Amino acid sequence: TVEPMTDLHIAQQAQLRPIAEIAERAGIPADAIELYGRYKAKIDVGEIPASGRRGKVVLVTAVSPTPAGEGKSTTTVGLADSLSRAFEQDGSGRKAMIALREPSLGPTLGMKGGATGGGYSQVLPMDEINLHFTGDFHAITSANNALCALIDNHIYQGNALNIDPRRISFKRVLDMNDRALREVVIGLGGPTQGVPRQDGFDITVASEIMAVFCLAKDLQDLKQRIGRITFGFDYDRKPVTVAELGVEGALTLLLKEAVKPNLVQTIAGTPALVHGGPFANIAHGCNSVIATSLARELADVVITEAGFGADLGAEKYMDIKARTADVAPDAVVIVATVRALKMHGGVAKTDLAEPDLAALQAGVGNLQRHIRNIRQFGLDPVVSINKFSSDSVEELDWLLQWCADHQVAAAVADVWGRGGGGDGGDELAAEVLRALQQPHRFDHLYALDLPVKEKIELIAQRIYGADRVEFSSPALKRLAEISSNGWDAFPVCMAKTQYSFSDDASLLGAPEGFTLHVRDLVPKTGAGFIVALTGAVMTMPGLPKTPAALRMDVDATGNAVGLS
Ligand code: ADP
Repeated sequence: TVEPMTDLHIAQQAQLRPIAEIAERAGIPADAIELYGRYKAKIDVGEIPASGRRGKVVLVTAVSPTPAGEGKSTTTVGLADSLSRAFEQDGSGRKAMIALREPSLGPTLGMKGGATGGGYSQVLPMDEINLHFTGDFHAITSANNALCALIDNHIYQGNALNIDPRRISFKRVLDMNDRALREVVIGLGGPTQGVPRQDGFDITVASEIMAVFCLAKDLQDLKQRIGRITFGFDYDRKPVTVAELGVEGALTLLLKEAVKPNLVQTIAGTPALVHGGPFANIAHGCNSVIATSLARELADVVITEAGFGADLGAEKYMDIKARTADVAPDAVVIVATVRALKMHGGVAKTDLAEPDLAALQAGVGNLQRHIRNIRQFGLDPVVSINKFSSDSVEELDWLLQWCADHQVAAAVADVWGRGGGGDGGDELAAEVLRALQQPHRFDHLYALDLPVKEKIELIAQRIYGADRVEFSSPALKRLAEISSNGWDAFPVCMAKTQYSFSDDASLLGAPEGFTLHVRDLVPKTGAGFIVALTGAVMTMPGLPKTPAALRMDVDATGNAVGLS
């Protein structure tokens, strides 16, 4: 038997072009390229003359994820390659470019194994992007932990700011799934070891430094945002900010190289900016504003992705990222798979290869609610059906017909199997180009002047389909604190399980009549949003019973093994 080709095998066989060639193709002048090896470069945005171009933005999102896989990154990459191909064929000279998030080591070593797309639609060099890349996450982790060390040192050295050690909300981070660090006690060991207090670790991709990194327009804006971070409260219950501690300069200095977006290429040679990477369940879920804005300057169409299902990543793209910068989408692609919809319809993962129209019909409600939701933002989505080899023709046809019956543009895409550089995404590209021609009126879901509590209720009812929201007593106290500190005008960043519209990961499909439970709220005044923690969602994930790390290795010549 022939071993099936893995994502890593395909990536290792691809012919990479020197990154300077890709930069030239993207219209990036040589002076703006800082090489990180042969196939990666950081881009010095200050060296790029303003083009006046404002490329259209295509946002790729998906149905609620299942363990069967959806393929948003695969579709993002494949669609960009298909558009590049279409623009070559029509001789228009138009350009497509990708803006994607950087992968976190947590899911790479845990469940997922990598986040650079799959099959013949990948960004390269996949192993390097998945492991350390250009060191941005290291820089973000260091800036975050430097702040923690500076806070604890301030308390130890006499605590001039009167910081209450019991009310420090800013946590240490690690780019790892490490459940053992969720709750820790620091400062043990006697008077010279600091002041003991209860603390905890989050994963780097949930940190506020990651959020400000991704929302800042430039280095100066980043510094101001870092200065505005509230890391805790003093003994009079007044918020204390980084600017009061006086360290926003040092923290920004630690990030000065990292804020330059990273340029890489797809298998087909389309330029891709891969930069920043907040998770979409516990953070705002989109790559940096700097990368998306640069891509708009350089290309006619920018394809970008928001994490997890459209209830999380896309809602946050629209209500957080698109308020911070001029990046509102001109078209939205919802990735759906026959397999995922069958799981939403009640089929077990082991039975997904069996054709099952009844299950597809039972699960399609999940897609339907995501379509309705995107329409609430004034955009008519395109459904991209990501084809798996186990899908039957009847199932694919049924889903296409369902979309036609519901007046939704749709295409089957085989960008995983045939690549967007091949003909695997031609129909999808045509549908997206058609969608980009349609008039639309983008709108946010809610007005900023609503109180935070009402914003949460609105998201829960209009996007999730909840009947009501229950706030725990600590959450109610936080709401009062938010109002009294004048933070009510911030948008909300929901933290919720990605698997369900509800806060119960086992409620698949399109649940109704449920209560959403808000257990706590965390003001992120640098990022400019309020995080609402729902259900049991964790800001430091754990590793699964059989982590992807068990398959990974490196051979004697230094090649990666077992990444997928
Ligand atoms: P997402 O961005 O939605 O998390 P990815 O694009 O990263 O999903 O894909 C997740 C995994 O699923 C990858 O390993 C990828 O190779 C695999 N995958 C995606 N699409 C397909 C497909 N059509 N057939 C087989 N495997 C696929």
